[in-house]
Amino acid sequence: MNILAKQSFRKGNGAMDILLTGGAGYIGSHTAVELINEGYGVIVADNYSNSSPEVIKRIEGAAGRLAAYDVDAGNEERLQQVFLKHQIDAVVHFAGYKAVGESVQQPLKYYENNLRALIATLKVMKDFRANTIIFSSSATVYGTSQAVPFDEGMDTGCTNPYGWTKLICEQILRDVAKAEEEFTPVILRYFNPVGAHESGLLGENPKGIPNNLMPYIQQVASGKLEKLSIFGNDYDTKDGTGIRDYIHVVDLAKGHVKALQYAQEHRGMEVFNLGTGKGYSVMEVVEAFEQANGVKIPYQITARRKGDVAESYADVSKARNVLGWEAEKTLEQMCRDAWRWENGVRSRLENEQFAI
Ligand code: NAD
Ligand code: UDP
Repeated sequence: MNILAKQSFRKGNGAMDILLTGGAGYIGSHTAVELINEGYGVIVADNYSNSSPEVIKRIEGAAGRLAAYDVDAGNEERLQQVFLKHQIDAVVHFAGYKAVGESVQQPLKYYENNLRALIATLKVMKDFRANTIIFSSSATVYGTSQAVPFDEGMDTGCTNPYGWTKLICEQILRDVAKAEEEFTPVILRYFNPVGAHESGLLGENPKGIPNNLMPYIQQVASGKLEKLSIFGNDYDTKDGTGIRDYIHVVDLAKGHVKALQYAQEHRGMEVFNLGTGKGYSVMEVVEAFEQANGVKIPYQITARRKGDVAESYADVSKARNVLGWEAEKTLEQMCRDAWRWENGVRSRLENEQFAI
């Protein structure tokens, strides 16, 4: 196909066309909105294994037009077709499975999907001379034996196959960056993304019973689940419950825009934590949700969950100093937006029996 005939939706002069693998998912959809708002052209390649084409319409409703393809990122041929159709300048790679418990039960499914998706994407990027990739990694790579706050220079290690897929992907990116001078991977280690878009159009829609704290609280609040189980109140923390760094998904999405801007001006690999730098306990999150939304969250204290660390929160100084990015939204806003989403679109979608 002739390069001149390639499709673009970008608005700003000098803005780029960005491919979002897994762009219909929770974090990808919010990032798509921020990129479109900044004038970038957005192309989504998602196999909808944990989302739905319906999300594309919602992104368009919240921000504007984009191109979307039902493509498995592990399928080189199909990805090549997307690169032929668009002049892709950079990739944000969200595609992957993310359920820790399922990864313990079905490790091969996780290694196969998460590694193949990255490797195929990198091969096609090389064919088309696209040198920039922003990669979704996780705070889980800091393992269990570190002192908080976690900084990017700390040792890494994992306790479950999902986490290992992230670490192995980081290593693959590091090795390719060593081999190819122009290659610029920016690794973003997310802490605990929560909340939803304030338009009420986008949010997380976990399949089945949620594993994560905030979606579980949302479903207790709506009466779908009876009560929250708090996994342990005997940790060495302020109130005995586990501490995490919850970050509003819109702040997280904005971090990707900053990472892309950074990558335009730098070469080689860089790693950034994306968190707020503040830790909240499970009890504090329950209380914040109750106060922000005027609802009651019944709970019981149960045993610790295997593999959980007592405390996890980010040292965010590198992202602040180098990317010029900082999370802005409060825990109260996270709770309010999460509840608006749970009460609105998400509950209707569930009643209509289609997942997004
Ligand atoms: P998500 O499941 O909502 O989104 C992932 C998207 O990728 C989904 O739309 C899914 O259909 C798609 N997908 C999966 N495998 C694919 C493949 N082979 N080809 C094409 N599309 C594929 O998850 P999310 O919460 O938006 O997470 C995005 C990324 O961030 C993931 O890589 C995840 O591991 C990582 N991450 C998430 C969290 C979190 O708590 N949500 C924390 C740290 C890191
Ligand atoms: N948690 C809990 N009950 C739940 C889910 C989570 O008490 O139903 C706790 C968990 O032990 C941890 C915190 O909430 O201390 C955040 O858990 P989540 O799974 O959301 O994130 P992660 O542990 O993966 O960082």
